[in-house]
Amino acid sequence: MKREGRLSRTRVLEGAQEPVAMIDGKRVINLSSNNYLALANHPAMKQAAKEAIDRWGVGTAAVRPIIGTMTLHEELERRLARFKGTEAAALFQSGFTVNVACCQSLMDAEDQLLISDELNHASIIDGARLAKAPRKIYPHRDMEALQAILESPESRRAARKLIVTDGVFSMDGDVAPLPRIVELAERYDAMVMVDDAHATGVMGKNGRGTPDHFGLSKRIQVQIGTLSKAVASVGGYAAGSRDLADYLRATGRPFIFSSSHPPSVVATCLKALDLLENEPERIKTLWDRARHFKEGLKNLGFDTGLSETPITPVMVGDTEKARRMSERLFEEGVFALSIGFPIVARGKERLRTIVTAGHASEDLDRALEKFGLVGRELGVI
Ligand SMILES: *Cc1c(COP(=O)(O)O)cnc(C)c1O
Repeated sequence: MKREGRLSRTRVLEGAQEPVAMIDGKRVINLSSNNYLALANHPAMKQAAKEAIDRWGVGTAAVRPIIGTMTLHEELERRLARFKGTEAAALFQSGFTVNVACCQSLMDAEDQLLISDELNHASIIDGARLAKAPRKIYPHRDMEALQAILESPESRRAARKLIVTDGVFSMDGDVAPLPRIVELAERYDAMVMVDDAHATGVMGKNGRGTPDHFGLSKRIQVQIGTLSKAVASVGGYAAGSRDLADYLRATGRPFIFSSSHPPSVVATCLKALDLLENEPERIKTLWDRARHFKEGLKNLGFDTGLSETPITPVMVGDTEKARRMSERLFEEGVFALSIGFPIVARGKERLRTIVTAGHASEDLDRALEKFGLVGRELGVI
């Protein structure tokens, strides 16, 4: 991998995850975290963690079904259900593990069918590999292809069908066509699972996610979210019916065989939900900043792809050039990760930028100035 230039270096934070941060000995504008609402170093979040440590200790030292469930874990599950507008929610250690568990547990027989967008997250791909059901992949957001799969004999024979999609796609920042997906699912009697890792805290009322954004919360059977991005802690959950949550707690292998969240983590998640419900202005700031930055990039002449959210790719079209652009920007005080093949297709190599509510307009203007400078230098614009 090293010989082929496929080993990228890990940048290291020398302090908190901040919009302008110390990274590898340099103060840079940080456009690479998922800290959408700037909660990772928020005083109320830190206070909640400290208080939880004093009352509950530092860990559970058990898996949930044995003795790793504190009243705090159940409180978070109830709060997540209320937030997502569902009957119940099952809490997992991460977004990755909840996706694996859902695909594996819901698709546990050979006469079922898992149907997945080609650009879904790696954890959905791995979950599908662990599922007993066969899988069909449709080209990204291609609803005719999805319909063709649903009409196929294999699908018509299937005892249970699950359509899985990211709500917001993590590399392009585009949004799944949920109204059409739900319409097709209802017509062909399939369930829908939406992974809102990048939409929770970002889209919908108070950041409730893409089902809420489209007014479809009651018509989507499985709402996945993470607590590791806008919520700025760590964890994942599946929200839906009480039967769904009970079933996942009874069969989800990461839930049964891997230990539960430390109480301080649960307490920060609860605090983040308070902040989302009581201070929604943070979400408005996020979108204002994101729009400003995206327009700035377009005005400079960059191709920002299909992005409709605070994730904005800057298309470069060459792995080496994308890497070089990221290096040069870092020298100029801006951190934007380069993403090359095989994470994205050849020709789609890019830098990925994520703006947060914590970035000051001046930070973003300075970042735009540097993008202009380096983009011209490398002939990207
Ligand atoms: C980040 C991400 C995950 C994984 O979430 P973690 O909580 O970090 O494990 C799952 N799905 C999507 C779409 C993601 O972007």
